[in-house]
Amino acid sequence: MATKFELSDLIRTEHFIDGKWVASISGKRFDVTNPATGEVIATIADGGEADARAATDAAARAFPAWRDALPKDRAAVLHRWHALMLENADVLGRLISLEQGKPFAEGRGEVLYGASYVAWFADEATRIYGDLIPQQQRGKRMSAVKEPVGVVAAITPWNFPLAMIARKIAPALAVGCTVVGKPAEDTPLTALALVMLAHEAGVPPGVLNLIASSRESAVPAVADWLHDGRVRKITFTGSTPVGKYLARESAETLKKLSLELGGNAPFIVFDDADLDAAVDGLLVSKFRNGGQTCVCPNRVYVQTSVYEKFGDMLAKRVAALKVAPATDSAAQIGPMINARAVDKIARHVDDAVSKGARALTGGKRLTALGPNYYAPTVLADATSEMQLSCEETFGPVVPLFRFEDEAEAIHAANDTPFGLASYFYSQDVRRIDRVSRQLEAGIVGINEGAISSEAAPFGGVKESGYGREGSKYGLDDYLSIKYLCQGGLD
Ligand code: NAD
Repeated sequence: MATKFELSDLIRTEHFIDGKWVASISGKRFDVTNPATGEVIATIADGGEADARAATDAAARAFPAWRDALPKDRAAVLHRWHALMLENADVLGRLISLEQGKPFAEGRGEVLYGASYVAWFADEATRIYGDLIPQQQRGKRMSAVKEPVGVVAAITPWNFPLAMIARKIAPALAVGCTVVGKPAEDTPLTALALVMLAHEAGVPPGVLNLIASSRESAVPAVADWLHDGRVRKITFTGSTPVGKYLARESAETLKKLSLELGGNAPFIVFDDADLDAAVDGLLVSKFRNGGQTCVCPNRVYVQTSVYEKFGDMLAKRVAALKVAPATDSAAQIGPMINARAVDKIARHVDDAVSKGARALTGGKRLTALGPNYYAPTVLADATSEMQLSCEETFGPVVPLFRFEDEAEAIHAANDTPFGLASYFYSQDVRRIDRVSRQLEAGIVGINEGAISSEAAPFGGVKESGYGREGSKYGLDDYLSIKYLCQGGLD
């Protein structure tokens, strides 16, 4: 059996339901385009309510057998899927670059990152323990066992088209849930390819089902899952307004929810920081995927005494970043995902400049490269009155805010409804302890810009959502606890 695929083998244009590739019941299709050029990559099935229902039917039918499979057998399937992802890392990386725009090295890196969750949860599948509860009464035995919640609906964004869906499917399948999924309309091809590899790895028919939908069709398709009592859990990564909508709409059937939502990450540079390390950390965390990540710093607070120096050091490095299509092997930043994204970035920068910000570098569209490119930008003299201080810019823009003391920095960092990632640089051990306790965020990077790992719990607080992905905690969202009380034992 050939396990190494060509790009053309991996471009699937239909839904995957009950182990088969099927067209939409409505016959509708939509275009997937390359953000670097606007060219159509593929015209694919556009799934609506009826397709979502067919996926749920299949997942509900497949659930009892998958739930009852031995954990080591589920683990073996996930390990095979992981091996196929690694074997096809280059071609998957190219597919990610093609539909999402990130440079190939990052696309390939995303494959390895997503695959690491599959390996992690394959191992965890065999380690789901319950408890024997210490005896409280003679003749009675009490225990707690963990069971899969049932059919899980997974809905994902476009910025990590492989990793986001892999880290939802893997824990769900590991514990014995079955899955219906819908990737973002901008980047469905990677998810469809991943599902094809899962099928090759031996995931049984009906256990994993994926429909692709245009933005318009996504609403009724997902609504069907929200209102269907057989879907016991929604796992969503995306924007906060959509997350709130899913929470409201699913309340009718009281589903379990995991919501990985938007961020507005602060990055604080104290005057006792190693400034070279802080610049390195900021470049890593801010410019991955051109600034289109939920954990990337959106607001950079620099203590007054090092403000000018840090701004100069950063601007030099940012000005040297190579912006180019993913096909250019030297590319460090690709196009933004679509015209709407570039318009938002330009709106934020123009608003900031009109309120007194100074561009140390960048501050403009790069129209010579194409309509979706924006120059990596550093803005000095940012203030809390500017739009970019309260909304995710989701692009390659670093606004630099000044602060005088620790209390002011912490207050500013927490002065947002969001609480996903946060970062700070300091070499004072007591400050490190104080600041990490006070930051209202699910993730704190301390003298470190690269925080993601399959072994760590990823997730937010406040309006960045709830639930954790990865780590030993990442299975809990897919499990419920059953209490068994056995009497008459004396
Ligand atoms: P989005 O919320 O617009 O879309 C996410 C998904 O929801 C897509 O599949 C989309 O088709 C679907 N969707 C949108 N509206 C819907 C509706 N009314 N009904 C049903 N489905 C709907 O987000 P996006 O623009 O794709 O992604 C960017 C956002 O995701 C940012 O806010 C970013 O911070 C967030 N994000 C969060 C994390 C995290 O782990 N917390 C990770 C990556 C991205």
